[in-house]
Amino acid sequence: MLLEGSCHCESVRFRVDSPSPYPYMACYCSICRKTAGGGGYAINLGADYNTLEVEGEENITAFHAIIREPENPERSGESPAWRHFCNRCGSALWLYDPRWPELVHPFASAIDTPLPKPPERNHIMLDYKAPWCEVPEGEHEHHFSRGPDESLEEWHRRHGLYDAP
Ligand SMILES: [Zn+2]
Ligand SMILES: [Zn+2]
Repeated sequence: MLLEGSCHCESVRFRVDSPSPYPYMACYCSICRKTAGGGGYAINLGADYNTLEVEGEENITAFHAIIREPENPERSGESPAWRHFCNRCGSALWLYDPRWPELVHPFASAIDTPLPKPPERNHIMLDYKAPWCEVPEGEHEHHFSRGPDESLEEWHRRHGLYDAP
C-alpha cells in the first residue's frame, strides 16, 4: 500500500510503500508518549525504506532516544534507532533503525492516506505507561508488559493482510 504522509506544518512530505500498513501496535513507552503520543501511545507501521521519497528534507532532524532500564544496564543507553521529526513544527515522522536497514517505521499519526482499521490491537510496553493512560479492554485488545515476539510482518501474514508487491 502506498502511504503518503506529512508533518503538521507541511514543510515535510513523504511517500513510502508499506506491505504492513495496519496500525495495530500502540506503544505506551515514555519515548513514544513524550515525543509522539498525545493519547499516551504512538503507533508504528512497517514500510520499505528503499521506496521512501521525501520533500523538505532540510526540515527534518533526527535523534537517538535514551533507553532507561535500570534493572537491565546492558540495554540502557542510546538507542541505535534514529527518530525523525519536523524541526519546524515538531511532528514525529518515522523511525529508522540501521539494524534493519531495509525497513522504515512511519508513525501512523503522520500518515494522510486513510489507513485500514486493524481487526485486533496490541497494546505494548505497558510497564512504562503513564498512570493516566486509558488502555482499551476487550476480546480484540491484547496487552503486553514489553514488546511482543511477533514482528509487524508476521502479524500481517498471520491475518492474511501482508501486502507484498
Ligand atoms: Zn512541520
Ligand atoms: Zn514506544
